[in-house]
Amino acid sequence: MKTRADLSLPMQQHVPAGDELAGRVIAITGAGSGIGRAVALGAARHGARVILIGRTIKKLEGVHAEIEAAGGGAQIAPLNLETAGAPEYDQLAAAITQAYGRLDGLLHNAALLGTLGPVEQADVPTWCRVMHVNLTAGFVLSQVLLPLLRASADASLVFTTSSAGRRGYAYWGAYGVSKFGIEGLTQTLAEEYAHLDNLRINAINPGATRTAMRRAAYPAEDVNAIVAPESLVNRYLWLLGPASRGVSGQSLDAQPPR
Ligand code: NDP
Repeated sequence: MKTRADLSLPMQQHVPAGDELAGRVIAITGAGSGIGRAVALGAARHGARVILIGRTIKKLEGVHAEIEAAGGGAQIAPLNLETAGAPEYDQLAAAITQAYGRLDGLLHNAALLGTLGPVEQADVPTWCRVMHVNLTAGFVLSQVLLPLLRASADASLVFTTSSAGRRGYAYWGAYGVSKFGIEGLTQTLAEEYAHLDNLRINAINPGATRTAMRRAAYPAEDVNAIVAPESLVNRYLWLLGPASRGVSGQSLDAQPPR
């Protein structure tokens, strides 16, 4: 049986063709900064039309401008995953339906770190916010967009996990628990759609990456010791594009574990 390391290797070694995502419509949450921004720019560079989902419109506008300046295609879809209700989710699904009638990729990337500390002292409202943004919002967005993913000839639904979602670490509280939930949601959905050849569902653990969230979790870390989001882009493109056809129900590592 193949290990996670075996299954992750083709992703870690992938070098995408210039037009690898041509013709694909790919939605990314948290596309305004960090890993989401880098993947959005990379997907557009490789031919995808990217739907930039996020809560800070100014950041999304910046990414949109960069994509357009490079000759790519993108649209902004403002959505605050903490506060959005059924009308906002339905509006997004309706807009994608009207524009394309399908969705070829969905990367659930947005997340909140919350406050690290002992569970005994965790602030209950903060716990609920983290669980909602990191897990429940991913379920709801998947639920409303699954009909569009099923309408694609080759769709990839990607969740974002963490090593804190595979082993319980002291003081990682709601963040770690939400990522355990993401692992469960990935497996559950992958089984529910195992009969479909045109839809794969996986999770990616980016590993230590130089972003605002990482800085908040490890303020004393030497930032030069960890990779920039840009260096992981090809791995995300492997998962979102045709190269990962046939792979489903997996939780993969973008970087070999440290
Ligand atoms: P960042 O904090 O840099 O980016 C998080 C993104 O999520 C931001 O774009 C942020 O938007 C968005 N977001 C947060 N809350 C909401 C909300 N309520 N509604 C909509 N969007 C929201 O983190 P990373 O880029 O590091 O993280 C990306 C993913 O990778 C996350 O799922 C994280 O858990 C995971 N990960 C990261 C690791 C790392 O070392 N960096 C390691 C393991 C996993 P805004 O800019 O407006 O705040």
